[in-house]
Amino acid sequence: MRQTNLFVTTLREAPAEAETMSHQLLLRAGYIRQLAAGVYTYMPLGRRVLRKIENIVREEMDASGAQEILMPSMQPAELWKESERYDVYGKELMKLQDRHEREFVLGPTHEEVVTALVRGEISSYRRLPLTVYQIQTKFRDERRPRSGLLRGREFLMKDAYSFDSAWEGLDQTYEQMYSAYGRIFDRCGLTYRAVQANAGAIGGKGQNHEFMALSEIGEDTVAVCSICDYAANLEQAEVRSGALQEERDFSGLAAPVKFHTPNQKTIQQLEQESHIKPEEIIKTLIYTGGDTTFAVLVRGDHEVNELKVQKYMGCSEIALAEYENVQEAAGVESGYVGPAGMSVTVLVDAAVAGMAEAITGAGEKDYHLRGVVPGRDFTLQHVGDFRNAAIGDTCPHCCEGKLEFHQGIEVGHVFKLGTVYSEKLGANFLDTAGRSQPMIMGCYGIGISRLLSSVAEQNHDDQGLIWPLSIAPYAVHILLMSVKDEAQREAAEALYVQLTSLGIETLLDDRDERAGVKFKDSGLIGIPVTLVVGKGAAEQKVEYIDRRAGTKEVIDVAEAVVRVSGMKTSF
Ligand code: ATP
Ligand code: MG
Repeated sequence: MRQTNLFVTTLREAPAEAETMSHQLLLRAGYIRQLAAGVYTYMPLGRRVLRKIENIVREEMDASGAQEILMPSMQPAELWKESERYDVYGKELMKLQDRHEREFVLGPTHEEVVTALVRGEISSYRRLPLTVYQIQTKFRDERRPRSGLLRGREFLMKDAYSFDSAWEGLDQTYEQMYSAYGRIFDRCGLTYRAVQANAGAIGGKGQNHEFMALSEIGEDTVAVCSICDYAANLEQAEVRSGALQEERDFSGLAAPVKFHTPNQKTIQQLEQESHIKPEEIIKTLIYTGGDTTFAVLVRGDHEVNELKVQKYMGCSEIALAEYENVQEAAGVESGYVGPAGMSVTVLVDAAVAGMAEAITGAGEKDYHLRGVVPGRDFTLQHVGDFRNAAIGDTCPHCCEGKLEFHQGIEVGHVFKLGTVYSEKLGANFLDTAGRSQPMIMGCYGIGISRLLSSVAEQNHDDQGLIWPLSIAPYAVHILLMSVKDEAQREAAEALYVQLTSLGIETLLDDRDERAGVKFKDSGLIGIPVTLVVGKGAAEQKVEYIDRRAGTKEVIDVAEAVVRVSGMKTSF
């Protein structure tokens, strides 16, 4: 492609609302343009990168045995009512009506459509397992569209759905998808971790993993072991507690002492006013879940993990108690609540159970207690892991490494759905004994457009983007320094024709622009190799610039051709 013909405009500065580097650079380098909040056009450069990612995904999906289909974005609302998601999916669901006032939605995902499709086509175990996938535009009216393509309202997703006749079959399909995802993200040059995740709104109780691109701007916190490959979302990360104390001998230990702490209702206030370290304090939090009220104790420097508490209590939802409930359970307003003498169930985090003595609320306004002894002053009947992992915690997997925290961007998700959708939508098959059974499903998503911006987020410098060769819009960028110099023009043209005929994707900057402008734009666009055709052209010399390494060398044109041809094999 000759740059004189390329539909691209680079910008000196990015619009003020573009906060993240990928968003700024993709706009400045002319890869994308915004139409509305979270709605983007892919310009030719952006479209090429997107297509390369799509092709990698396609190759790996096909290789794993999945078959490509394309389902409609327009989906009848009845299907969503059948799956009972029409109302619960919330405001993200884009709804519309046709001319006959029939209700439709614009698909944010396709579990309903694909399950309805397969129930009409397959009725016997003989035709299972089946995995289908599509690469398609999704619509989600996100509350806060963010960072360009990272959180769009219209975006490109690869979604795959598997149907098996047995759970072991699903396990196998899941494994295949999991490893295909690894190959896809490796090939795209992404730095990522696969983490155990929580089952969200998709439903189902099955195992699921999220693939997280590691990046400071990620919205999710991922706990990662410094030694082994353990990685989990913060809410899922287990905490390995030390061995519980043997029966303690309390004789000789003094009784707790009350002290005055007016207006010191938070850990921070206690630290500032009374010079107490957070790790000396026990936080007593009162929760309600279902129709019970209970207390959770964690150390002052730890955070309650509501998911873990929820599981332990067997509640589908829990929340911090309202004022009246706190008063009723603890006899005092929050800030001075303590576990001693509490009548409700008390869940004790293992770190609290391991404290020799601690400071707690006194159960009386404006007072705290010093010298509270776990096991003596409150019961250790319900001890467990009820807190979020913290930086420096021992890895729960290898028990040697320490946990580090990273921010992550979720680029992919693999999920064992089980029979949630097949039961609701009646996707059944006849098993070997002729019995009707619901199909066992899995779903597997990759945010294609989010992947593009995640790679951009991880690969840039102060000049601009640095694409991995596998998804770069072009492999080589020839910069013709002086259009008016005939020798240069001819050499650049000949090189361009030669590379193109070798099948190497080449962009030729043949614009009548100053050298400075060309270098600047080339740095911004981020093609892996730049060949500068300048003063050495008559001697068949070019400057070879490796964009990532930042190295520059003057070499023979023939040598440059050999080098870039060699690169091709690693596509
Ligand atoms: P998030 O927690 O970021 O909202 P999600 O859990 O809603 O993601 P899924 O429903 O699992 O996402 O969708 C599958 C994949 O689609 C995600 O892993 C992500 O890569 C991508 N994705 C989801 N929402 C968006 C969006 N608004 N813009 C771009 N990509 C998205
Ligand atoms: Mg979401």
